Amino acid sequence: MHETPSDGLITTKEELEHHLSLTEEELAFDYHTTQVLPLRIPSNFLDLIDTNNPQDPIRRQVVPTSAELFSHPQEDLDPLAEVSHSVTQRLIHRYQSRVAFLTTDICPIHCRHCFRRRFTGTFQGPATDEQIEEASAYVAEHPEVKEILFTGGDVLTLSDARLKQMIAAFRSKRKDLVIRLCTRMPASYPMRITKALITMLGEFSTAPFYLMTQFNHPRELTEQAIKAVSLFVNAGIPAMNQTVLLKGVNDSVDVLETLCNQLVFNRIKPYYLFQGDLVSGTSHFRVPLQTGLALEQELRRRLSGLAMPLYAIDLPEGGGKVPLNQGYLTEQSGCGVWTFRTVEGELRSYPDPEV
Ligand SMILES: *Cc1c(COP(=O)(O)O)cnc(C)c1O
Ligand code: SF4
Repeated sequence: MHETPSDGLITTKEELEHHLSLTEEELAFDYHTTQVLPLRIPSNFLDLIDTNNPQDPIRRQVVPTSAELFSHPQEDLDPLAEVSHSVTQRLIHRYQSRVAFLTTDICPIHCRHCFRRRFTGTFQGPATDEQIEEASAYVAEHPEVKEILFTGGDVLTLSDARLKQMIAAFRSKRKDLVIRLCTRMPASYPMRITKALITMLGEFSTAPFYLMTQFNHPRELTEQAIKAVSLFVNAGIPAMNQTVLLKGVNDSVDVLETLCNQLVFNRIKPYYLFQGDLVSGTSHFRVPLQTGLALEQELRRRLSGLAMPLYAIDLPEGGGKVPLNQGYLTEQSGCGVWTFRTVEGELRSYPDPEV
Protein backbone atom coordinates (compact mmCIF):
# COMPACT_ATOMS: atom_id res chain seq x y z
CA MET A 1 0.00 0.00 0.00
CA HIS A 2 1.18 3.49 -0.75
CA GLU A 3 -0.48 6.77 -0.09
CA THR A 4 -1.16 8.85 -3.14
CA PRO A 5 -4.06 11.13 -3.89
CA SER A 6 -6.86 9.46 -5.83
CA ASP A 7 -9.64 12.03 -5.59
CA GLY A 8 -9.26 14.55 -8.37
CA LEU A 9 -5.95 13.29 -9.66
CA ILE A 10 -5.43 14.39 -13.27
CA THR A 11 -3.77 11.75 -15.49
CA THR A 12 -5.35 12.20 -18.92
CA LYS A 13 -5.48 14.94 -21.50
CA GLU A 14 -9.29 14.83 -21.39
CA GLU A 15 -9.36 15.48 -17.62
CA LEU A 16 -6.85 18.26 -18.06
CA GLU A 17 -8.97 19.90 -20.74
CA HIS A 18 -11.82 20.21 -18.23
CA HIS A 19 -9.66 22.62 -16.28
CA LEU A 20 -7.42 24.36 -18.80
CA SER A 21 -7.70 25.38 -22.40
CA LEU A 22 -4.52 23.85 -23.72
CA THR A 23 -2.09 25.83 -25.84
CA GLU A 24 -0.78 24.63 -29.17
CA GLU A 25 2.45 23.38 -27.60
CA GLU A 26 0.56 21.59 -24.86
CA LEU A 27 -1.79 19.95 -27.37
CA ALA A 28 1.21 18.83 -29.42
CA PHE A 29 2.51 16.69 -26.54
CA ASP A 30 1.99 12.98 -27.17
CA TYR A 31 -0.14 12.00 -24.17
CA HIS A 32 0.00 8.32 -25.09
CA THR A 33 3.75 8.01 -25.39
CA THR A 34 5.50 5.67 -23.00
CA GLN A 35 8.85 7.32 -23.69
CA VAL A 36 8.45 10.16 -21.21
CA LEU A 37 7.05 10.73 -17.76
CA PRO A 38 3.23 10.37 -17.83
CA LEU A 39 0.92 13.26 -16.94
CA ARG A 40 0.11 13.39 -13.22
CA ILE A 41 -1.24 16.43 -11.38
CA PRO A 42 -3.02 16.27 -8.01
CA SER A 43 -6.07 18.56 -8.02
CA ASN A 44 -4.78 20.65 -5.11
CA PHE A 45 -1.69 21.52 -7.18
CA LEU A 46 -3.78 22.12 -10.31
CA ASP A 47 -5.81 24.62 -8.28
CA LEU A 48 -2.68 26.77 -7.87
CA ILE A 49 -2.59 27.42 -11.62
CA ASP A 50 -3.77 30.79 -12.86
CA THR A 51 -5.93 29.51 -15.72
CA ASN A 52 -5.87 32.86 -17.49
CA ASN A 53 -2.13 32.75 -17.97
CA PRO A 54 -0.78 30.17 -20.45
CA GLN A 55 2.72 30.99 -19.14
CA ASP A 56 1.80 30.43 -15.51
CA PRO A 57 4.86 29.21 -13.52
CA ILE A 58 2.90 26.46 -11.75
CA ARG A 59 1.41 25.30 -15.03
CA ARG A 60 4.83 25.11 -16.70
CA GLN A 61 6.04 22.68 -14.04
CA VAL A 62 3.26 20.12 -14.52
CA VAL A 63 1.61 20.50 -17.94
CA PRO A 64 3.73 18.80 -20.61
CA THR A 65 4.47 20.41 -23.98
CA SER A 66 5.88 19.12 -27.24
CA ALA A 67 9.26 20.55 -26.19
CA GLU A 68 9.65 17.47 -23.98
CA LEU A 69 9.62 15.19 -26.99
CA PHE A 70 12.82 16.82 -28.20
CA SER A 71 16.17 15.68 -26.87
CA HIS A 72 19.34 17.66 -27.34
CA PRO A 73 22.23 15.45 -28.56
CA GLN A 74 24.19 16.28 -25.41
CA GLU A 75 21.32 15.31 -23.15
CA ASP A 76 21.07 11.93 -21.53
CA LEU A 77 18.51 10.08 -19.43
CA ASP A 78 21.14 9.60 -16.72
CA PRO A 79 23.56 12.56 -16.90
CA LEU A 80 24.57 12.15 -13.26
CA ALA A 81 25.63 8.55 -14.01
CA GLU A 82 23.52 7.27 -11.16
CA VAL A 83 23.27 3.84 -12.70
CA SER A 84 27.03 3.36 -12.79
CA HIS A 85 27.34 4.67 -9.23
CA SER A 86 24.74 2.20 -7.96
CA VAL A 87 26.20 -0.21 -5.45
CA THR A 88 23.01 -2.21 -5.00
CA GLN A 89 19.84 -2.18 -7.11
CA ARG A 90 18.47 0.97 -5.44
CA LEU A 91 21.45 2.48 -3.64
CA ILE A 92 23.65 5.18 -5.24
CA HIS A 93 27.03 5.84 -3.66
CA ARG A 94 28.49 8.85 -5.46
CA TYR A 95 29.90 10.89 -2.55
CA GLN A 96 32.07 9.46 0.20
CA SER A 97 29.92 10.33 3.21
CA ARG A 98 26.39 9.91 1.90
CA VAL A 99 24.27 7.55 -0.17
CA ALA A 100 20.95 7.96 -1.96
CA PHE A 101 18.32 5.23 -1.69
CA LEU A 102 15.57 5.07 -4.33
CA THR A 103 12.74 4.17 -1.96
CA THR A 104 10.06 4.19 -4.70
CA ASP A 105 9.50 5.49 -8.22
CA ILE A 106 6.02 6.70 -7.32
CA CYS A 107 5.20 10.41 -7.00
CA PRO A 108 1.93 12.21 -6.34
CA ILE A 109 2.96 14.68 -9.03
CA HIS A 110 5.03 14.43 -12.16
CA CYS A 111 7.22 17.49 -12.57
CA ARG A 112 8.06 18.04 -16.19
CA HIS A 113 11.62 19.01 -15.18
CA CYS A 114 12.20 15.80 -13.18
CA PHE A 115 15.90 14.92 -13.49
CA ARG A 116 15.29 11.30 -12.48
CA ARG A 117 12.75 10.61 -15.19
CA ARG A 118 14.61 7.44 -16.19
CA PHE A 119 13.16 6.03 -12.93
CA THR A 120 10.25 8.20 -11.72
CA GLY A 121 6.82 6.88 -12.69
CA THR A 122 8.14 3.66 -14.27
CA PHE A 123 5.80 1.38 -12.29
CA GLN A 124 8.58 -0.36 -10.38
CA GLY A 125 6.97 0.44 -7.06
CA PRO A 126 8.46 0.68 -3.58
CA ALA A 127 11.77 -1.01 -2.78
CA THR A 128 11.28 -4.67 -1.95
CA ASP A 129 12.33 -6.28 1.33
CA GLU A 130 15.33 -7.80 -0.46
CA GLN A 131 16.39 -4.44 -1.92
CA ILE A 132 16.13 -2.84 1.52
CA GLU A 133 18.09 -5.69 3.09
CA GLU A 134 20.79 -5.45 0.42
CA ALA A 135 21.11 -1.67 0.78
CA SER A 136 21.14 -1.68 4.58
CA ALA A 137 23.80 -4.42 4.57
CA TYR A 138 25.94 -2.17 2.35
CA VAL A 139 25.54 0.79 4.69
CA ALA A 140 26.36 -1.44 7.66
CA GLU A 141 29.69 -2.32 6.03
CA HIS A 142 30.52 1.27 5.09
CA PRO A 143 31.04 3.35 8.22
CA GLU A 144 32.24 6.27 6.07
CA VAL A 145 28.59 6.73 5.08
CA LYS A 146 27.13 9.20 7.59
CA GLU A 147 23.90 10.14 5.85
CA ILE A 148 21.32 8.41 3.69
CA LEU A 149 18.94 10.23 1.37
CA PHE A 150 15.54 8.54 1.18
CA THR A 151 14.57 9.69 -2.27
CA GLY A 152 12.74 8.46 -5.37
CA GLY A 153 10.11 9.21 -6.61
CA ASP A 154 8.68 10.53 -3.40
CA VAL A 155 9.43 8.66 -0.18
CA LEU A 156 6.23 9.90 1.43
CA THR A 157 4.12 7.91 -1.04
CA LEU A 158 5.07 4.96 1.17
CA SER A 159 2.59 4.19 3.92
CA ASP A 160 3.63 5.02 7.47
CA ALA A 161 4.01 1.28 8.18
CA ARG A 162 6.25 0.69 5.15
CA LEU A 163 8.36 3.75 5.88
CA LYS A 164 8.74 2.69 9.50
CA GLN A 165 9.96 -0.71 8.40
CA MET A 166 12.44 0.89 6.00
CA ILE A 167 13.84 3.25 8.64
CA ALA A 168 14.10 0.39 11.14
CA ALA A 169 16.02 -1.74 8.62
CA PHE A 170 18.73 0.91 8.24
CA ARG A 171 18.80 2.21 11.79
CA SER A 172 18.95 -1.30 13.31
CA LYS A 173 22.29 -1.73 11.55
CA ARG A 174 23.48 1.88 11.91
CA LYS A 175 22.00 3.72 14.90
CA ASP A 176 24.04 6.79 13.97
CA LEU A 177 22.77 7.11 10.40
CA VAL A 178 21.34 10.54 9.60
CA ILE A 179 18.28 10.16 7.35
CA ARG A 180 17.22 12.85 4.89
CA LEU A 181 13.59 12.56 3.83
CA CYS A 182 13.65 14.00 0.30
CA THR A 183 10.09 14.83 -0.61
CA ARG A 184 8.02 17.26 -2.58
CA MET A 185 4.93 16.23 -0.63
CA PRO A 186 4.53 19.52 1.32
CA ALA A 187 4.07 21.26 -2.05
CA SER A 188 2.51 18.46 -4.08
CA TYR A 189 0.10 16.86 -1.59
CA PRO A 190 0.39 18.36 1.92
CA MET A 191 -2.56 16.30 3.21
CA ARG A 192 -0.20 13.31 3.32
CA ILE A 193 1.70 14.85 6.22
CA THR A 194 -0.17 13.83 9.35
CA LYS A 195 0.44 13.81 13.08
CA ALA A 196 0.60 9.99 12.85
CA LEU A 197 3.57 10.23 10.46
CA ILE A 198 5.42 12.62 12.75
CA THR A 199 4.68 10.45 15.79
CA MET A 200 6.08 7.42 13.98
CA LEU A 201 9.29 9.30 13.11
CA GLY A 202 9.56 10.34 16.76
CA GLU A 203 9.94 6.69 17.76
CA PHE A 204 13.39 6.72 16.13
CA SER A 205 15.47 8.87 18.42
CA THR A 206 19.07 7.67 17.99
CA ALA A 207 19.97 10.02 15.10
CA PRO A 208 18.35 12.98 13.39
CA PHE A 209 16.06 13.20 10.41
CA TYR A 210 16.21 16.13 8.01
CA LEU A 211 13.31 17.13 5.79
CA MET A 212 14.47 18.09 2.28
CA THR A 213 11.71 19.88 0.38
CA GLN A 214 11.41 21.20 -3.17
CA PHE A 215 9.62 24.52 -3.50
CA ASN A 216 10.29 26.24 -6.81
CA HIS A 217 7.90 29.17 -6.65
CA PRO A 218 6.46 31.26 -3.79
CA ARG A 219 2.89 30.27 -4.76
CA GLU A 220 3.69 26.66 -3.80
CA LEU A 221 4.08 27.81 -0.19
CA THR A 222 0.38 27.50 0.55
CA GLU A 223 -1.09 27.61 4.03
CA GLN A 224 -1.37 23.81 3.96
CA ALA A 225 2.21 23.39 2.76
CA ILE A 226 3.47 25.63 5.54
CA LYS A 227 1.44 23.70 8.10
CA ALA A 228 2.82 20.39 6.80
CA VAL A 229 6.41 21.57 7.12
CA SER A 230 5.80 23.03 10.58
CA LEU A 231 4.70 19.59 11.82
CA PHE A 232 8.23 18.36 11.08
CA VAL A 233 10.00 21.44 12.41
CA ASN A 234 7.95 21.48 15.62
CA ALA A 235 9.00 17.87 16.14
CA GLY A 236 12.68 18.86 15.91
CA ILE A 237 13.21 17.86 12.29
CA PRO A 238 15.00 20.68 10.43
CA ALA A 239 13.67 21.61 6.98
CA MET A 240 15.93 22.43 4.03
CA ASN A 241 14.81 23.36 0.53
CA GLN A 242 16.23 22.53 -2.87
CA THR A 243 15.00 24.72 -5.72
CA VAL A 244 15.55 23.90 -9.37
CA LEU A 245 16.30 26.97 -11.46
CA LEU A 246 13.66 26.79 -14.20
CA LYS A 247 13.14 29.01 -17.22
CA GLY A 248 9.74 30.67 -17.13
CA VAL A 249 9.15 29.52 -13.56
CA ASN A 250 11.65 31.15 -11.25
CA ASP A 251 14.42 32.65 -13.43
CA SER A 252 13.80 36.07 -11.94
CA VAL A 253 15.63 37.68 -9.08
CA ASP A 254 12.39 39.02 -7.57
CA VAL A 255 10.72 35.59 -7.61
CA LEU A 256 13.75 33.88 -6.07
CA GLU A 257 14.19 36.63 -3.49
CA THR A 258 10.56 36.29 -2.41
CA LEU A 259 10.77 32.51 -2.37
CA CYS A 260 13.92 32.43 -0.22
CA ASN A 261 12.64 35.01 2.25
CA GLN A 262 9.33 33.20 2.62
CA LEU A 263 11.15 29.90 3.13
CA VAL A 264 13.24 31.37 5.94
CA PHE A 265 10.17 32.98 7.46
CA ASN A 266 8.61 29.51 7.60
CA ARG A 267 11.72 27.91 9.13
CA ILE A 268 12.88 26.26 5.91
CA LYS A 269 16.54 26.88 5.09
CA PRO A 270 17.21 27.48 1.37
CA TYR A 271 19.91 24.87 0.76
CA TYR A 272 20.55 24.48 -2.98
CA LEU A 273 19.55 26.34 -6.10
CA PHE A 274 20.26 23.85 -8.89
CA GLN A 275 21.27 24.66 -12.42
CA GLY A 276 19.24 22.35 -14.70
CA ASP A 277 20.82 18.98 -15.41
CA LEU A 278 21.38 17.80 -19.00
CA VAL A 279 18.40 15.44 -18.81
CA SER A 280 16.67 14.36 -22.02
CA GLY A 281 13.62 16.45 -22.89
CA THR A 282 14.24 19.28 -20.44
CA SER A 283 16.21 21.80 -22.52
CA HIS A 284 13.25 24.24 -22.54
CA PHE A 285 13.66 24.56 -18.76
CA ARG A 286 17.38 25.30 -18.71
CA VAL A 287 18.55 28.83 -17.96
CA PRO A 288 21.82 30.02 -19.59
CA LEU A 289 24.63 29.81 -17.06
CA GLN A 290 25.40 33.51 -17.53
CA THR A 291 21.84 34.34 -16.43
CA GLY A 292 22.11 32.00 -13.46
CA LEU A 293 25.40 33.56 -12.37
CA ALA A 294 23.90 37.05 -12.58
CA LEU A 295 20.91 35.90 -10.52
CA GLU A 296 23.27 34.42 -7.92
CA GLN A 297 25.23 37.66 -7.70
CA GLU A 298 22.15 39.82 -7.21
CA LEU A 299 20.63 37.37 -4.72
CA ARG A 300 23.82 37.47 -2.67
CA ARG A 301 23.48 41.24 -2.51
CA ARG A 302 19.82 41.15 -1.49
CA LEU A 303 19.52 38.10 0.75
CA SER A 304 20.80 37.34 4.22
CA GLY A 305 23.31 34.53 4.60
CA LEU A 306 20.51 32.45 6.09
CA ALA A 307 18.21 33.05 3.14
CA MET A 308 20.89 32.49 0.47
CA PRO A 309 20.93 29.05 -1.20
CA LEU A 310 24.07 27.61 -2.74
CA TYR A 311 23.83 27.83 -6.52
CA ALA A 312 25.26 24.54 -7.81
CA ILE A 313 25.55 22.37 -10.89
CA ASP A 314 25.59 18.59 -10.94
CA LEU A 315 28.19 18.03 -13.65
CA PRO A 316 27.51 15.71 -16.61
CA GLU A 317 28.93 12.19 -16.76
CA GLY A 318 28.57 11.88 -13.02
CA GLY A 319 31.06 14.66 -12.28
CA GLY A 320 29.17 15.54 -9.11
CA LYS A 321 27.99 18.81 -7.61
CA VAL A 322 30.12 21.94 -7.66
CA PRO A 323 29.20 25.43 -6.46
CA LEU A 324 28.66 28.18 -9.02
CA ASN A 325 29.35 31.89 -8.70
CA GLN A 326 31.08 34.66 -10.66
CA GLY A 327 34.10 34.30 -8.42
CA TYR A 328 34.90 36.83 -5.76
CA LEU A 329 38.57 35.97 -5.69
CA THR A 330 39.94 37.69 -8.79
CA GLU A 331 43.69 37.31 -8.61
CA GLN A 332 46.71 36.33 -6.60
CA SER A 333 49.58 38.70 -7.26
CA GLY A 334 52.24 36.09 -6.54
CA CYS A 335 53.62 37.83 -3.46
CA GLY A 336 50.86 36.46 -1.24
CA VAL A 337 48.37 39.25 -1.83
CA TRP A 338 44.89 38.20 -2.91
CA THR A 339 42.47 40.46 -4.70
CA PHE A 340 38.73 40.15 -4.20
CA ARG A 341 35.69 41.61 -5.87
CA THR A 342 33.13 42.74 -3.30
CA VAL A 343 29.44 41.97 -3.71
CA GLU A 344 29.03 45.62 -4.80
CA GLY A 345 31.72 45.17 -7.46
CA GLU A 346 34.61 47.02 -5.78
CA LEU A 347 38.09 45.60 -5.27
CA ARG A 348 39.82 44.73 -1.98
CA SER A 349 43.13 43.04 -1.30
CA TYR A 350 43.96 40.60 1.46
CA PRO A 351 47.58 39.63 2.22
CA ASP A 352 48.61 36.17 3.40
CA PRO A 353 50.51 35.99 6.72
CA GLU A 354 54.26 36.39 6.22
CA VAL A 355 56.24 33.17 6.54
C1 LIG B 1 23.09 15.42 -4.32
C2 LIG B 1 23.38 14.06 -3.95
C3 LIG B 1 23.72 13.74 -2.63
C4 LIG B 1 23.76 14.76 -1.52
O1 LIG B 1 24.70 15.75 -1.75
P1 LIG B 1 24.83 16.96 -0.72
O2 LIG B 1 25.74 17.92 -1.40
O3 LIG B 1 25.42 16.38 0.54
O4 LIG B 1 23.47 17.50 -0.46
C5 LIG B 1 24.03 12.43 -2.36
N1 LIG B 1 24.01 11.47 -3.32
C6 LIG B 1 23.69 11.77 -4.58
C7 LIG B 1 23.72 10.67 -5.60
C8 LIG B 1 23.35 13.07 -4.95
O5 LIG B 1 23.01 13.33 -6.21
S1 SF4 C 1 8.50 15.28 -7.08
FE1 SF4 C 1 10.68 14.97 -7.48
S2 SF4 C 1 10.88 12.82 -8.16
FE2 SF4 C 1 8.69 13.40 -8.30
S3 SF4 C 1 8.46 14.05 -10.42
FE3 SF4 C 1 8.85 15.90 -9.18
S4 SF4 C 1 11.08 16.20 -9.33
FE4 SF4 C 1 10.65 14.07 -9.99
